[in-house]
Amino acid sequence: MSNSTENLPQIHNKPLRHSVSIPNTFALKSLACNALLIEERADFALISEYAQQLSPVYIVGGGSNLILPNQLGGLVVLMRQQDVHYLGEQAAHHYIDVVAGEVWHDWVLYAEQQGWPGLENLALIPGTVGAAPVQNIGAYGLEVAQFIDSVEIWDIEQAVFRRLTRDECQFSYRDSVFKTPQGQQWVIASVRFALPVDWQPCLNYPELRREVLSSQGEETQVRSKDILQAVIDIRRRKLPDPSQIPNAGSFFKNPIVSAAQYESLLSSNPQLVAYEQPSGEYKLAAGWLIDQCGWKGRALGTVRVHQNQALVLTNTGHASASDVVAIAQKIRADVQARFGVTLEQEPVNWA
Ligand SMILES: Cc1cc2nc3c(=O)[nH]c(=O)nc-3n(C[C@H](O)[C@H](O)[C@H](O)COP(=O)(O)OP(=O)(O)OC[C@H]3O[C@@H](n4cnc5c(N)ncnc54)[C@H](O)[C@@H]3O)c2cc1C
Repeated sequence: MSNSTENLPQIHNKPLRHSVSIPNTFALKSLACNALLIEERADFALISEYAQQLSPVYIVGGGSNLILPNQLGGLVVLMRQQDVHYLGEQAAHHYIDVVAGEVWHDWVLYAEQQGWPGLENLALIPGTVGAAPVQNIGAYGLEVAQFIDSVEIWDIEQAVFRRLTRDECQFSYRDSVFKTPQGQQWVIASVRFALPVDWQPCLNYPELRREVLSSQGEETQVRSKDILQAVIDIRRRKLPDPSQIPNAGSFFKNPIVSAAQYESLLSSNPQLVAYEQPSGEYKLAAGWLIDQCGWKGRALGTVRVHQNQALVLTNTGHASASDVVAIAQKIRADVQARFGVTLEQEPVNWA
């Protein structure tokens, strides 16, 4: 890793910033040795220029899915450019380009106000539009991949913009090509959304369905803004607000197991919480597994498992990345020992 900035070219009169505090919802204190702000399209070329002397390159959106060390060397790229551009209606979809630095929730609200519904189940997810395809954000029965037409990337090595089709993005549960070694050479510049002209509500998720129908009565009467409000209300009730209680959302993915393993687990744990997948496999509720191991509300040092939501780790004070890693390892080991299930961490760990 190189941290040297001596003799770096002053391209476009936009020098790097040094010792910049990296925003993150876990409130980990972390300084970027060399930070580049992307505020306009011309700035993308600078990533490739600076990357010739500084590596690795870290792309940071809102920092809501990151575990950060005290200091991050290499080149830290902060995505700040914002813009929304309506392209038009075609084949029963509204096409809209949204620049990576837009705040995800603001975009969801804006789309709803403009009469382009579809994203309401994904309201209030923290972070930026550019990060949404990386882990294919999902909530309340929908994943963002369903609404993505294509993604424009900046290829750091080749120093060119390219467009990837939805298929090329290789979306699956909390996963995409952007998590592969090849995909990590790319910076998402903008996302092209295809939102349905003929909107249908998605109320598959039982808690959301109950909440919406308790105020609307009939499914046919449900409007997208009713779902939007219900999702916001449920999330505010259930999830700790990072500005009050620092956290990185769900700390572990819900593990997917074979039907045989599910049956075996169910026979010894009749209360097991699981959802059958179209593939015939089962998605287990990681929060339930963690709760059964006695972790709900428990702390290790400065990191505590949230008292109402066992899937969420919270920073109770001055936690560092190693404190987070320590409790995560213990939880993972306990779940493995009791259920024989391996938990996979959701936030990206750069520590
Ligand atoms: C309270 C809370 C609730 C959450 N709820 C959900 C939820 O319901 N569903 C869900 O899926 N997630 C959820 N998350 C996780 C998080 O909000 C998402 O992963 C979000 O997309 C991260 O966005 P970000 O801009 O903060 O990304 P960051 O945390 O800054 O980065 C995350 C990853 O994306 C990469 N990245 C960011 N921007 C770009 C870019 N432009 N190009 C290339 N790579 C990039 C980073 O390098 C990093 O690998 C939650 C988090 C919190 C704190």
